[in-house]
Amino acid sequence: MEILLHNKYPELLGEQEDGEYRPRVWGFEHHDGWNVIVDTLCQSIQHRIKHAPGLVLKVTQVKEKFGELRFYYSGGDDYIEGAVLFAELLSSRICEQCGQLGQKMKIKGWVITRCPIHTPE
Ligand SMILES: [Zn+2]
Repeated sequence: MEILLHNKYPELLGEQEDGEYRPRVWGFEHHDGWNVIVDTLCQSIQHRIKHAPGLVLKVTQVKEKFGELRFYYSGGDDYIEGAVLFAELLSSRICEQCGQLGQKMKIKGWVITRCPIHTPE
């Protein structure tokens, strides 16, 4: 999935060096359940960049923190800030394991977001 995202959004997630593509965002530090959120967010950002001349954005890290997606980047504008905020909020209602509806919970001191099936014992 990660390779798929790199192929789909090379200018957001990597760099061209000596004519070769190198990923900048190494290892998305979250489970696969949020891939659809990240994919949709990147699609939305790409769309914005395409229609806003001169606008640049570089994604620096994508990870889970306190049960929510964290999407770190430089550049962008108000539109992109809103899209990222929405994606991060949405992740607090989507199981990080499988992508089904879920909720935040505290397990052994960790805040995670899981559906009923993936709620730890
Ligand atoms: Zn689940």
